[in-house]
Amino acid sequence: MTSILIIYTGGTIGMIESVDRQTLVPFDLPHVLDTIPELRKLDAKLDSIAFEKPIDSSDMEPTGWMKIAAMVADNYDAYDGFVILHGSDTLAYTASALSYMFSGLRKPVVLTGSQLPIGMIRTDARDNLITSVEFAARSMNDEPVVQEVVVCFEDLLYRGNRTKKYSTEAFDAFISPNYPVLGEAGVNLNFDFEELYRSDEEAFKVVGGFDQRVAVLTMFPGIMPELVRSVLRNTDLRGLVMMTFGSGNAPSDKALIDELTLAVERGMVIVNVTQCAKGKVEQGKYETSVGLMNAGVVSCGDMTLEATLTKLMFLLDKSDDADWVKEQMLTNLRGELTV
Ligand code: ASP
Repeated sequence: MTSILIIYTGGTIGMIESVDRQTLVPFDLPHVLDTIPELRKLDAKLDSIAFEKPIDSSDMEPTGWMKIAAMVADNYDAYDGFVILHGSDTLAYTASALSYMFSGLRKPVVLTGSQLPIGMIRTDARDNLITSVEFAARSMNDEPVVQEVVVCFEDLLYRGNRTKKYSTEAFDAFISPNYPVLGEAGVNLNFDFEELYRSDEEAFKVVGGFDQRVAVLTMFPGIMPELVRSVLRNTDLRGLVMMTFGSGNAPSDKALIDELTLAVERGMVIVNVTQCAKGKVEQGKYETSVGLMNAGVVSCGDMTLEATLTKLMFLLDKSDDADWVKEQMLTNLRGELTV
């Protein structure tokens, strides 16, 4: 019988209303399996473990990503798949971070959560959890169908490092703007087999470590040159994600380009992600991105902000060589980038 380990980290799925303030707070959900008795009817052996103190995912940090990775690694041989219950707010960051940490992954790691707590009458938690377990348990020719980090929400299965939370309201809270849906649960579970990721690496291993000396700088019309300058001259920073307009454009002010050039020369890795949810950065397409290209800013193509930021943190931790980091940013490591 297929065995699945459910890892509870927190998030709305397990929250309750605090008595005094009527706000949603993380709740210790020790008996995930008892909350949804239907889970026992599935054709899979289920166990669960949890963070000692469940958190709202807005409190998630790289140490939390590593904790989840260690929980998967410690149980990797004992289970056929993993379902991680996580708050939806930063779930796309965690999914991206995990995808880089797991090398040679040959089992499903499915992240899910919900918009309404598990105890509420109209909750989406029940369906999301059951469907996630079903996706995780599915095998073909004696091997798991899914062998990557994925996100399951409202019957759809996405590559984790391609997702974004896009709705605070709808049950289908996630999108995968630049990559096809990997699977859909209707009467049957259907997969897009062509799009599923397969690793070339031999053995499974977890590579941890994230350098937090990074920042995200969003461009906007009227942005003060002093603000940009103070970020670019911040010597505590090793990496910067610039969120630009359209296909990677920014104000073409010469002073800005000069500052960028100097920052790159000082060794800062500066990467370019578009503010558009869908589509890609194409530096050089417009004159307003030629300066960025000439300054040595790296185009992140169709990667999401979440996939880019976590990739940059992951790579900066691995090397002091800015050129190597830039080259790896342009490389498709886990299906996060269309090359
Ligand atoms: N604030 C919650 C969290 O991310 C929202 C959710 O779970 O949907 O933990």
